[in-house]
Amino acid sequence: MSYITKSPWVIHYDGSSCNGCDIEVLACLMPMYDVERFGIINTGNPKHADVFLVTGSVNEQNKNVVKQIYEQMPEPKVVVAIGICACNGGIFKECYNILGGVDTVIPVDAYVPGCAARPEAIIDAVVTGLGILEQKRQALANGELLKEPEPEAAVAAPEEAAEEGKEEA
Ligand code: SF4
Repeated sequence: MSYITKSPWVIHYDGSSCNGCDIEVLACLMPMYDVERFGIINTGNPKHADVFLVTGSVNEQNKNVVKQIYEQMPEPKVVVAIGICACNGGIFKECYNILGGVDTVIPVDAYVPGCAARPEAIIDAVVTGLGILEQKRQALANGELLKEPEPEAAVAAPEEAAEEGKEEA
C-alpha cells in the first residue's frame, strides 16, 4: 500500500440492486470497518472520484447513467463490480430488461461475487483496484495510452457463437 500517494475517493452507484449489496458498501464506511481511516471517502461527484463502485445489474433504464458516471470520472480510474448481480446479472440475469453485469457497458477492473458481497471482500477488491489504479497512473505518467478492454457484451458468448455457426452451416 506504500504506492498510494493520495486519498482514493470512491463513488457508489446502485444500478438495480435489491439494496443488499448497497448496505454492505455503506457498512464499509461505517465505524465497524471504517475505510475512511485510510483516506477512502465516498463522494457524490464523479469528477472527484478514482474508484467507481457499482452494485446491481445493468438494464435499459440505467445503462446510460452508468456510462455517464464512468465518462465523467477523470483518468486514471477503476471500476469495481460489487455482488453477483453487478458481476453478471445474478438472479435477475434472465429478466426481460436486464442486459447483464456492469461489464456489458463499461470496463470492470475488479469483481466481488457474493449475494450479498461481504464488506471484507469489498474492501479487498477496492485495495486490488488501488493497485490497478497506480499501474494506470504510472502508465499515464509515462505517456502510454490506456487501452480499455472491450465490454464483454461486444464479444459473442460461446453458446451464441456456436448457435451462429449452426445457422451458417
Ligand atoms: S448480489 Fe444479492 S444482495 Fe447484491 S444486489 Fe444482487 S440480489 Fe441483492
